[in-house]
Amino acid sequence: MVFMIDLHCHSNFSDGLLPPHQLLEKANDAGVKILALTDHDTVEGCKLLRTLETSIRIINGIELSVRWKKYDIHILGLNIDIDNEAITDLINQQSESRILRARQIAECIETLGIDDVFNKACLLAGHNRIGRPHFAQLFVNEGKVKDMQSAFKRFLGRGKPAYVPTPWISITEAVEGINNAGGHAVIAHPLKYGLTNTRLNGLITEFKEAGGSGMEVVSGEMTQQEVDTLAGLCLRYELLASTGSDYHGDKISRISLGRQRKLPLNCTPVWHQWNI
Ligand code: AMP
Ligand code: MN
Ligand code: MN
Ligand code: MN
Repeated sequence: MVFMIDLHCHSNFSDGLLPPHQLLEKANDAGVKILALTDHDTVEGCKLLRTLETSIRIINGIELSVRWKKYDIHILGLNIDIDNEAITDLINQQSESRILRARQIAECIETLGIDDVFNKACLLAGHNRIGRPHFAQLFVNEGKVKDMQSAFKRFLGRGKPAYVPTPWISITEAVEGINNAGGHAVIAHPLKYGLTNTRLNGLITEFKEAGGSGMEVVSGEMTQQEVDTLAGLCLRYELLASTGSDYHGDKISRISLGRQRKLPLNCTPVWHQWNI
Protein backbone atom coordinates (compact mmCIF):
# COMPACT_ATOMS: atom_id res chain seq x y z
CA MET A 1 0.00 0.00 0.00
CA VAL A 2 1.33 3.43 -0.92
CA PHE A 3 0.52 6.26 1.42
CA MET A 4 2.08 9.49 2.48
CA ILE A 5 3.41 9.37 6.01
CA ASP A 6 5.05 12.09 8.09
CA LEU A 7 6.22 11.13 11.57
CA HIS A 8 7.93 14.35 12.65
CA CYS A 9 6.47 17.85 12.84
CA HIS A 10 5.88 20.71 15.27
CA SER A 11 2.94 22.84 16.32
CA ASN A 12 2.86 26.13 18.21
CA PHE A 13 2.73 24.13 21.46
CA SER A 14 6.53 24.01 20.99
CA ASP A 15 8.51 25.93 18.34
CA GLY A 16 6.25 25.39 15.33
CA LEU A 17 4.17 28.22 13.91
CA LEU A 18 0.81 26.56 13.30
CA PRO A 19 -1.77 25.46 15.87
CA PRO A 20 -2.57 21.72 15.66
CA HIS A 21 -5.85 22.18 13.75
CA GLN A 22 -4.10 24.17 11.01
CA LEU A 23 -1.32 21.60 10.85
CA LEU A 24 -4.00 18.99 10.28
CA GLU A 25 -5.61 21.02 7.48
CA LYS A 26 -2.24 21.48 5.85
CA ALA A 27 -1.46 17.76 6.13
CA ASN A 28 -4.83 16.95 4.62
CA ASP A 29 -4.27 19.33 1.68
CA ALA A 30 -0.83 17.76 1.14
CA GLY A 31 -2.32 14.25 0.97
CA VAL A 32 -0.68 13.02 4.17
CA LYS A 33 -2.50 9.93 5.45
CA ILE A 34 -0.57 9.25 8.66
CA LEU A 35 0.81 12.07 10.78
CA ALA A 36 2.73 12.14 14.05
CA LEU A 37 2.89 15.41 15.96
CA THR A 38 6.25 15.43 17.74
CA ASP A 39 6.54 18.67 19.68
CA HIS A 40 9.64 19.27 21.81
CA ASP A 41 9.15 17.82 25.30
CA THR A 42 5.36 18.19 25.32
CA VAL A 43 2.25 16.22 24.31
CA GLU A 44 -0.21 19.11 24.82
CA GLY A 45 -0.68 19.43 21.04
CA CYS A 46 -1.44 15.69 20.77
CA LYS A 47 -4.02 16.03 23.52
CA LEU A 48 -5.71 18.77 21.51
CA LEU A 49 -5.52 16.76 18.27
CA ARG A 50 -7.48 13.87 19.75
CA THR A 51 -10.47 16.18 20.22
CA LEU A 52 -10.55 17.01 16.49
CA GLU A 53 -12.34 15.13 13.71
CA THR A 54 -10.08 14.02 10.87
CA SER A 55 -9.64 11.21 8.37
CA ILE A 56 -5.86 11.39 8.88
CA ARG A 57 -4.47 8.65 11.12
CA ILE A 58 -2.89 10.56 14.03
CA ILE A 59 0.10 9.01 15.81
CA ASN A 60 0.89 10.44 19.23
CA GLY A 61 4.47 11.59 19.38
CA ILE A 62 7.05 13.66 21.21
CA GLU A 63 10.61 14.84 20.53
CA LEU A 64 12.53 14.51 23.80
CA SER A 65 15.71 16.53 24.31
CA VAL A 66 18.49 14.49 25.90
CA ARG A 67 21.96 15.35 27.10
CA TRP A 68 24.63 13.02 25.78
CA LYS A 69 28.26 14.01 26.45
CA LYS A 70 28.31 17.70 25.50
CA TYR A 71 25.57 17.34 22.88
CA ASP A 72 21.84 18.01 22.85
CA ILE A 73 20.39 14.95 21.11
CA HIS A 74 16.74 14.51 20.10
CA ILE A 75 14.88 11.24 20.64
CA LEU A 76 11.45 10.80 19.10
CA GLY A 77 8.84 8.83 20.97
CA LEU A 78 6.36 7.50 18.39
CA ASN A 79 2.99 5.88 18.99
CA ILE A 80 3.15 6.54 22.73
CA ASP A 81 0.37 6.55 25.29
CA ILE A 82 0.28 10.26 26.08
CA ASP A 83 -1.43 9.66 29.43
CA ASN A 84 1.31 7.31 30.64
CA GLU A 85 2.71 8.21 34.05
CA ALA A 86 6.40 7.60 33.29
CA ILE A 87 6.34 9.87 30.24
CA THR A 88 4.33 12.51 32.12
CA ASP A 89 6.99 12.59 34.87
CA LEU A 90 9.73 13.03 32.29
CA ILE A 91 7.82 15.81 30.55
CA ASN A 92 7.37 17.67 33.84
CA GLN A 93 11.08 17.36 34.55
CA GLN A 94 11.97 18.62 31.06
CA SER A 95 9.56 21.50 31.41
CA GLU A 96 11.32 22.70 34.57
CA SER A 97 14.71 22.47 32.85
CA ARG A 98 13.38 24.36 29.83
CA ILE A 99 11.96 27.24 31.88
CA LEU A 100 15.11 27.53 34.00
CA ARG A 101 17.25 27.51 30.87
CA ALA A 102 15.03 30.14 29.23
CA ARG A 103 15.60 32.46 32.20
CA GLN A 104 19.36 31.88 31.97
CA ILE A 105 19.42 32.45 28.21
CA ALA A 106 17.37 35.62 28.71
CA GLU A 107 19.95 36.94 31.19
CA CYS A 108 22.77 36.24 28.72
CA ILE A 109 20.90 38.04 25.96
CA GLU A 110 20.24 41.06 28.17
CA THR A 111 24.00 41.55 28.49
CA LEU A 112 24.03 41.72 24.68
CA GLY A 113 21.81 44.80 24.73
CA ILE A 114 18.16 43.64 24.51
CA ASP A 115 15.85 44.31 27.49
CA ASP A 116 12.95 42.36 29.03
CA VAL A 117 14.02 39.25 27.09
CA PHE A 118 12.17 36.54 29.03
CA ASN A 119 8.79 38.28 28.73
CA LYS A 120 9.32 39.07 25.06
CA ALA A 121 10.21 35.42 24.37
CA CYS A 122 7.09 34.24 26.26
CA LEU A 123 4.97 36.57 24.14
CA LEU A 124 6.52 35.25 20.93
CA ALA A 125 5.97 31.65 22.02
CA GLY A 126 2.49 32.19 23.43
CA HIS A 127 3.39 29.79 26.28
CA ASN A 128 6.29 29.08 28.65
CA ARG A 129 7.80 26.09 26.78
CA ILE A 130 10.32 28.47 25.29
CA GLY A 131 12.80 27.15 22.77
CA ARG A 132 15.86 28.66 21.21
CA PRO A 133 13.94 29.46 17.99
CA HIS A 134 11.84 31.94 19.98
CA PHE A 135 15.00 33.72 21.11
CA ALA A 136 16.29 33.54 17.52
CA GLN A 137 13.11 35.29 16.35
CA LEU A 138 13.63 37.93 19.04
CA PHE A 139 17.17 38.62 17.75
CA VAL A 140 15.63 39.14 14.28
CA ASN A 141 12.82 41.36 15.60
CA GLU A 142 15.31 43.52 17.51
CA GLY A 143 17.35 44.00 14.35
CA LYS A 144 20.44 42.20 15.71
CA VAL A 145 20.59 39.62 12.87
CA LYS A 146 18.99 39.18 9.46
CA ASP A 147 17.47 35.73 10.03
CA MET A 148 17.02 32.99 12.64
CA GLN A 149 19.83 30.91 11.17
CA SER A 150 22.28 33.79 11.82
CA ALA A 151 21.00 34.10 15.40
CA PHE A 152 21.95 30.43 16.00
CA LYS A 153 25.30 30.90 14.30
CA ARG A 154 26.28 34.00 16.29
CA PHE A 155 24.46 33.64 19.62
CA LEU A 156 22.44 30.51 20.34
CA GLY A 157 24.40 27.58 18.90
CA ARG A 158 26.59 25.38 21.09
CA GLY A 159 29.51 27.38 22.55
CA LYS A 160 28.11 30.78 21.50
CA PRO A 161 27.48 33.67 23.96
CA ALA A 162 23.80 32.88 24.66
CA TYR A 163 24.19 29.09 24.70
CA VAL A 164 23.31 27.55 28.06
CA PRO A 165 24.00 23.84 28.59
CA THR A 166 20.80 22.21 29.84
CA PRO A 167 20.50 19.22 32.23
CA TRP A 168 18.14 17.36 29.89
CA ILE A 169 17.32 13.75 30.80
CA SER A 170 19.70 10.97 29.71
CA ILE A 171 19.29 8.69 26.69
CA THR A 172 18.39 5.83 29.03
CA GLU A 173 15.70 7.85 30.80
CA ALA A 174 14.17 8.97 27.50
CA VAL A 175 14.19 5.49 25.93
CA GLU A 176 12.83 3.81 29.05
CA GLY A 177 10.08 6.43 29.38
CA ILE A 178 9.05 5.98 25.74
CA ASN A 179 9.13 2.17 25.98
CA ASN A 180 7.13 2.34 29.21
CA ALA A 181 4.53 4.42 27.33
CA GLY A 182 4.28 1.62 24.75
CA GLY A 183 6.01 3.60 21.99
CA HIS A 184 9.05 3.34 19.77
CA ALA A 185 12.15 5.39 20.60
CA VAL A 186 13.78 6.78 17.46
CA ILE A 187 16.98 8.86 17.13
CA ALA A 188 15.95 12.06 15.35
CA HIS A 189 17.98 13.50 12.43
CA PRO A 190 21.26 11.67 13.29
CA LEU A 191 23.36 13.83 10.93
CA LYS A 192 22.32 17.12 12.53
CA TYR A 193 24.54 16.94 15.62
CA GLY A 194 27.91 17.46 13.96
CA LEU A 195 29.17 14.13 15.35
CA THR A 196 32.24 12.36 14.01
CA ASN A 197 31.61 8.84 12.65
CA THR A 198 33.05 7.35 15.83
CA ARG A 199 30.77 9.45 18.04
CA LEU A 200 27.71 8.72 15.89
CA ASN A 201 28.38 4.99 16.14
CA GLY A 202 28.87 5.41 19.90
CA LEU A 203 25.54 7.24 20.18
CA ILE A 204 23.68 4.54 18.26
CA THR A 205 25.32 1.78 20.31
CA GLU A 206 24.33 3.42 23.62
CA PHE A 207 20.84 4.09 22.31
CA LYS A 208 20.41 0.43 21.31
CA GLU A 209 21.76 -0.80 24.64
CA ALA A 210 19.18 1.42 26.38
CA GLY A 211 16.40 -0.32 24.42
CA GLY A 212 15.95 2.15 21.54
CA SER A 213 14.29 0.73 18.46
CA GLY A 214 14.70 3.05 15.51
CA MET A 215 16.37 5.94 13.74
CA GLU A 216 15.20 8.60 11.33
CA VAL A 217 16.60 7.64 7.96
CA VAL A 218 14.74 10.45 6.25
CA SER A 219 14.30 13.75 8.04
CA GLY A 220 13.55 17.18 6.62
CA GLU A 221 15.69 18.32 3.75
CA MET A 222 18.44 15.80 2.95
CA THR A 223 20.49 14.73 -0.05
CA GLN A 224 19.98 11.20 -1.42
CA GLN A 225 23.55 10.46 -0.35
CA GLU A 226 22.71 11.34 3.26
CA VAL A 227 19.62 9.13 3.12
CA ASP A 228 21.75 6.24 1.79
CA THR A 229 24.33 6.75 4.55
CA LEU A 230 21.63 6.59 7.23
CA ALA A 231 19.92 3.60 5.60
CA GLY A 232 23.29 1.81 5.81
CA LEU A 233 23.62 2.59 9.54
CA CYS A 234 20.02 1.61 10.15
CA LEU A 235 20.56 -1.80 8.56
CA ARG A 236 23.93 -2.35 10.27
CA TYR A 237 22.45 -1.70 13.72
CA GLU A 238 19.21 -3.57 12.92
CA LEU A 239 17.06 -0.58 13.75
CA LEU A 240 13.62 0.30 12.44
CA ALA A 241 13.51 3.26 10.04
CA SER A 242 11.44 6.40 10.42
CA THR A 243 10.63 9.29 8.12
CA GLY A 244 9.41 12.83 8.75
CA SER A 245 9.57 16.38 7.45
CA ASP A 246 10.46 18.08 10.79
CA TYR A 247 8.08 20.78 9.57
CA HIS A 248 7.97 23.90 11.81
CA GLY A 249 6.01 26.30 9.55
CA ASP A 250 6.45 27.86 6.11
CA LYS A 251 8.64 30.70 7.39
CA ILE A 252 11.01 28.29 9.15
CA SER A 253 11.11 25.03 7.19
CA ARG A 254 12.27 24.60 3.63
CA ILE A 255 10.13 21.53 2.99
CA SER A 256 6.49 21.10 3.86
CA LEU A 257 4.53 18.28 5.51
CA GLY A 258 4.99 14.92 3.80
CA ARG A 259 7.48 16.32 1.27
CA GLN A 260 10.59 14.52 2.54
CA ARG A 261 12.41 11.92 0.39
CA LYS A 262 11.21 8.33 0.20
CA LEU A 263 12.32 5.79 2.75
CA PRO A 264 14.69 3.28 1.05
CA LEU A 265 12.91 -0.01 0.39
CA ASN A 266 15.53 -2.13 2.17
CA CYS A 267 14.72 -0.48 5.52
CA THR A 268 12.03 -1.87 7.84
CA PRO A 269 9.62 0.98 8.62
CA VAL A 270 9.01 1.78 12.27
CA TRP A 271 5.26 1.40 11.61
CA HIS A 272 5.46 -2.14 10.19
CA GLN A 273 3.80 -3.67 13.24
CA TRP A 274 1.48 -0.80 14.04
CA ASN A 275 -2.21 -1.37 13.71
CA ILE A 276 -2.69 1.27 10.97
P1 AMP B 1 15.79 23.93 21.88
O1 AMP B 1 15.02 22.64 22.02
O2 AMP B 1 15.12 25.06 22.57
O3 AMP B 1 17.24 23.80 22.22
O4 AMP B 1 15.71 24.33 20.34
C1 AMP B 1 16.08 23.43 19.36
C2 AMP B 1 15.39 23.83 18.07
O5 AMP B 1 16.04 24.94 17.51
C3 AMP B 1 15.46 22.77 16.99
O6 AMP B 1 14.42 21.85 17.12
C4 AMP B 1 15.28 23.60 15.75
O7 AMP B 1 13.92 23.87 15.57
C5 AMP B 1 16.00 24.88 16.10
N1 AMP B 1 17.40 24.95 15.63
C6 AMP B 1 18.46 24.30 16.14
N2 AMP B 1 19.60 24.65 15.49
C7 AMP B 1 19.23 25.54 14.55
C8 AMP B 1 19.93 26.28 13.57
N3 AMP B 1 21.26 26.18 13.41
N4 AMP B 1 19.22 27.10 12.78
C9 AMP B 1 17.88 27.24 12.92
N5 AMP B 1 17.16 26.56 13.83
C10 AMP B 1 17.82 25.73 14.65
MN1 MN C 1 12.38 22.64 16.74
MN1 MN D 1 15.13 17.98 16.48
MN1 MN E 1 11.89 18.34 15.32
